[in-house]
Amino acid sequence: MGRRHVKEYRPDEALALISADREGKRIECPSCGSEAMERTPCRPPDGGATLGRVVLTCGKCARLVAYIDRAGVTTTPH
Ligand SMILES: [Zn+2]
Repeated sequence: MGRRHVKEYRPDEALALISADREGKRIECPSCGSEAMERTPCRPPDGGATLGRVVLTCGKCARLVAYIDRAGVTTTPH
């Protein structure tokens, strides 16, 4: 599949990270414990949810997880 070598979280780690992010909690890397998590896109300043693909990357061990955020949908896209 020509996939580049990317370190990913174990499924249970990824689930914990995703659920914490969806709940707006402070997230830390479940693998190395670093709080240097990078979120793309950034969480809006008003605390609202971002729609679409969210990527969480650990700035320390470089593991990443991506998920589709549909939480907190109060308006209809398009
Ligand atoms: Zn890490």
